Amino acid sequence: SLLITNVCINCDVCAPACPNDAISQGEFIYEIEPRRCTECVGHHEEPQCVVVCPVECIIPDPQRPESRAALQLKYAALMAEK
Ligand code: SF4
Ligand code: SF4
Repeated sequence: SLLITNVCINCDVCAPACPNDAISQGEFIYEIEPRRCTECVGHHEEPQCVVVCPVECIIPDPQRPESRAALQLKYAALMAEK
């Protein structure tokens, strides 16, 4: 999962770009729901939130390192929910 750091300026550009609806406005800054973030695996070559964020404040979550295989499984599970 990726993580939004407190450099976030609450511009709302990333939320509509997320194919997994993983991003929402939090109490202070925008937040990524780890359960829903596949780092865009299954949808795009690059994490779309990182591509669009104007202040480059989105990083890999150091608490939640995930292999590509794990992200692929998460993607499959999210698709099965639909
Ligand atoms: Fe959404 Fe992709 Fe960003 Fe994860 S990396 S929050 S899935 S846009
Ligand atoms: Fe925050 Fe970047 Fe998302 Fe804008 S695009 S709300 S600055 S994380």
